[in-house]
Amino acid sequence: MHQPSVINQISELRKHLSNIRRQSKTIALVPTMGALHQGHLSLIQTAHQHADCVVASIFVNPTQFGVGEDFDSYPRTEQEDIEKLASEGVDCIFIPSAKEMYPTGFCSSVDLQGPARELETSHRPHFFSGVATVVTKLLLSVMPDTAIFGEKDYQQLQVIKQFTRDLNIPVKIIGAPTLRETDGLAMSSRNAYLSPAERKIAAQLYAQLVNCEADLSKNQSWQEVQRKAITNLTQIGFEVDYLELRDSQTLNLPIIGNQRRLLVAAKLGKTRLIDNIHIPAAS
Ligand code: AMP
Repeated sequence: MHQPSVINQISELRKHLSNIRRQSKTIALVPTMGALHQGHLSLIQTAHQHADCVVASIFVNPTQFGVGEDFDSYPRTEQEDIEKLASEGVDCIFIPSAKEMYPTGFCSSVDLQGPARELETSHRPHFFSGVATVVTKLLLSVMPDTAIFGEKDYQQLQVIKQFTRDLNIPVKIIGAPTLRETDGLAMSSRNAYLSPAERKIAAQLYAQLVNCEADLSKNQSWQEVQRKAITNLTQIGFEVDYLELRDSQTLNLPIIGNQRRLLVAAKLGKTRLIDNIHIPAAS
């Protein structure tokens, strides 16, 4: 098996990648926070379809976690992650320290509006600024031709598409579909927090999204569908942060085009889960 280069410093990463670029090879980047599962690995497979050389990053980014969130307890499985990425044929793994990304005196961030408004931001106000800042730094360190992000974090994907376009960062952002467990639960590093009992209930989050889609296809009103789904989720133990039907690109209201996205975030015990599905055009 080809062993990827594991690199911790931006200067070394740039040197490594400039050699690759000199060979006229294209580069794809897959940013992650580690604790890798099949969903992450599917992004690596998509990356291989778009570029000659795949770079993955592993960085649990402190600036996207709020006070009292799970930064300290976030699962860290670096050695297993490296082995998984090696078996997917990744060329290079970038694992910076927090100090490398945020040296003493660091004081800048990317400011966002548009698709960053509401939804996650209403519950995690600093989240997208933290994500956009670290993704900008990763993109400028790697300078990839393409970068792959999961639709699992759908609002994040739209935010990244928007700010890379607005800031003229020369990269093509590609969204990849959500990989799910056999019972429908979206794969997530945070699923590891769920107790066996919670794990059984967790699949209902996706099941309720699918129910909503079925009800909407029967032309039931969104308000009624939303109320029913929130009641169902609450009754089985979820605390729902939001369940919203939005324009699939702007994520704002009113829905301008006929492409719609249904997005949900809910806590089950201490674990906060998010999910989303495409909703076909209203007939
Ligand atoms: P994370 O490590 O959770 O920050 O995720 C890194 C990347 O993997 C992001 O672009 C996520 O959207 C994506 N991702 C996470 N879970 C899944 C999944 N179940 N299917 C596809 N992509 C995913």
